[in-house]
Amino acid sequence: MSRRSVDVPALVESARAGSPRAVARLISLVEDGHGSLREVMAALAPHAGNAWVIGITGSPGVGKSTTTTALVGAFRERGLRVGVLAVDPSSPFSGGALLGDRIRMQDHALDPDVYIRSMASRGHLGGLSFATPQAIRVLDAAGCDVVLVETVGVGQSEVEIAGLADTSVVLLAPGMGDGIQAAKAGILEIGDVFVVNKADREGADATVRDLRHMISLGDRTEPGLWRPPVVKTVAAQKIGIDEVMEALDKHRAFIEEDGELDRRRERRVADEIETIALATLRTRLGHLGGREGVTALARDVVAGRIDPYAAADRLLEQLGT
Ligand code: GDP
Repeated sequence: MSRRSVDVPALVESARAGSPRAVARLISLVEDGHGSLREVMAALAPHAGNAWVIGITGSPGVGKSTTTTALVGAFRERGLRVGVLAVDPSSPFSGGALLGDRIRMQDHALDPDVYIRSMASRGHLGGLSFATPQAIRVLDAAGCDVVLVETVGVGQSEVEIAGLADTSVVLLAPGMGDGIQAAKAGILEIGDVFVVNKADREGADATVRDLRHMISLGDRTEPGLWRPPVVKTVAAQKIGIDEVMEALDKHRAFIEEDGELDRRRERRVADEIETIALATLRTRLGHLGGREGVTALARDVVAGRIDPYAAADRLLEQLGT
């Protein structure tokens, strides 16, 4: 954790006034797990809670960047401020230089009401599960009406990150065996809106059919539950984007109406609190790890005087937890 001093109030004020540099700096502090984060989050707290968080997930190459760009355009047509976080749990690189960014930048580079940023795991604290919700909070407090969180792949961490969203969009493409992959990764459960992109390719209708079938096998067909629609798009030609927007709006209205939006946000924040608490605990344990107390406990376990669970309990007692 870096302790380099930061003028947090000034930074937060600039970010709220729409300075992309200030927003970038705040997100870097989040990524770095900077020592000033506690102060940053305290300053942001009163201003957050307005953004509609939309997760977009799917395998590499399925068309996430293209679709995200099209959605940014559609939200901009409504006059909304949009933040985009491209999250790559598998890549150690970051700083907004990913290829996808540069492509997207060409469409929205000059628009002050669009903020685009990549984030990668830097392997500290809770990694991206720690950083992502806080980066969303930065964009939210900086006045973004919509935050699109794009994650790469369909692995477990992507499912977790997608779980952060108010509305989760799962993208598939025909003929990629994606349906089965999605089912395996548990992505069928988290999708609120399914998009079969590259509908200009052969097999799109079959993919739509397969998906609808798989969704119908789940427990989401009961009355009163949201039934995730499956929308076909050719994102590269902006075909079907209106339909995706319509599906997003319907989902938003549905979860607002039945209280699910609040429940999701509470769950999201509960996870965030837990992650912060665990990270704090781990830091404290780390400090303790070098101490005589742990060595003594380890010696007792090795000698068979106590078991490791009992030793862990004692360690936690020493921490006052
Ligand atoms: P990502 O890796 O999921 O972000 O995918 P990209 O958005 O970068 O798209 C991967 C490739 O698919 C690019 O070459 C896009 O131009 C292309 N692509 C995106 N949407 C479509 C589409 O609807 N049809 C076809 N044929 N190609 C598309």
